[in-house]
Amino acid sequence: MDENKIFLSESEMPQAWYNINPDLPVPLKPPIHPGTGEPLGPEALAPLFPMALIEQEMSMDRWIDIPDEIMDVLKIWRPSPLQRALRLEEALGTPARIYFKNEAVSPPGSHKPNTAVAQAYYNKQEGVERITTETGAGQWGSALSFACQIFDISCEVYMVRVSYEQKPYRRLLMQTWGAECYPSPSDRTEAGRAILAEDPDTPGSLGIAISEAVELAAKDEGTKYSLGSVLNHVLLHQTITGLEMKKQFEIAGDYPDVIVGCVGGGSNFAGFAFPYVKDKIDGKRDIDIIGVEPTACPTLTRGLYRYDFGDNAEMTPLLKMLTLGHKFVPAPIHAGGLRYHGAAPQLSLLVNEGVIEARALPQKEVFEGALLFARTEGHLPAPETAHAVQVAIVEALKCKETGEEKCIVIGYSGHGHFDLAAYENYLSGNLIDYELPQEEIDAAAEYLPNWE
Ligand SMILES: *Cc1c(COP(=O)(O)O)cnc(C)c1O
Repeated sequence: MDENKIFLSESEMPQAWYNINPDLPVPLKPPIHPGTGEPLGPEALAPLFPMALIEQEMSMDRWIDIPDEIMDVLKIWRPSPLQRALRLEEALGTPARIYFKNEAVSPPGSHKPNTAVAQAYYNKQEGVERITTETGAGQWGSALSFACQIFDISCEVYMVRVSYEQKPYRRLLMQTWGAECYPSPSDRTEAGRAILAEDPDTPGSLGIAISEAVELAAKDEGTKYSLGSVLNHVLLHQTITGLEMKKQFEIAGDYPDVIVGCVGGGSNFAGFAFPYVKDKIDGKRDIDIIGVEPTACPTLTRGLYRYDFGDNAEMTPLLKMLTLGHKFVPAPIHAGGLRYHGAAPQLSLLVNEGVIEARALPQKEVFEGALLFARTEGHLPAPETAHAVQVAIVEALKCKETGEEKCIVIGYSGHGHFDLAAYENYLSGNLIDYELPQEEIDAAAEYLPNWE
């Protein structure tokens, strides 16, 4: 097979998302109330999310149909190509076959609109007029702005102030798609005003921005909140990538031995990998499924498997997940999308059960991989995506030693066109690696809630 790209036609697109809940090796623990430790019913989440998404969050149905209205929007860029990285293979001199499933082809340039479009649709169905959210570097904010524009819903994005000031291009993308974008903390919420009163020059944080977006949704009937990762329904919407990939590998007459993706909250990796997890659990196939994270934020490799808050202001329900603790503030690495203290509960469970492997990489090595990829394949990976690229390179070089002709596939979550400052840092030799001292990880155990 030396085709460069394996395309699907639109009529071959998967018609349903894959829900892994009924296939997990042990049952998933429910979200619980921080005060009582009791499982949360649908009504507790109703002020924040439309009922259709809450039902998906708790569903035990293996397949959930994708409504035509969502499909029509996804077809703007889907199905995305599965590409063979022949030039990278040649540069490495490996007998391995390397593929990448390219989610950078979406309008915002990443996998994130796969869920943003679905979430905007279900909100519109239930009469929601405005959606609030937070964004760090702006990838999620821009994906949701795009989706809200399409379904004619107002979108308000609270962007961490330092990013708002240092990274204007993602903000301009949001504004181009019709969203309002505010630096957080802002004077538009009680949470924001309280923090500004204490520290007018604060750089802001994702935790503060979440508090602002959640407060607005909780206070207003016509406003809901939207989250771009971590939750079950977000991972569900992302499975369209892995389901497409399965069909593409059938066409190619190949099957992956190694699936590798980067992990922030876990949504893109879960989307690529979950449709293959069942084959692995059923013993049908022996696949290495590898999630990659930064050593500066080693949630999967060094975190504790405990109930924890999703945000550092302690406003969310508790989720059972691998976590570094909700007060953990990761070093300012360039892969902003991977700086989250926790990880999706479904993914955490599979790592804890040993079905999925986790690895951590320092950022200099990650950028080495990114550069080799850009200089062979031409595509410039996002710093997040480059974590997956580098592990694929490492695995392909192992094949060179052993002579194994493995099939390796990269979850190519997005392009790095808005991350050129990071590349500049690397090229000028100014990139620093951060190692996380064990004391900082031990500190989390002290303040984590004690529910089992
Ligand atoms: C946001 C983002 C990620 C990390 O988020 P996940 O929920 O773990 O997928 C990874 N890659 C890109 C390009 C992103 O924008």
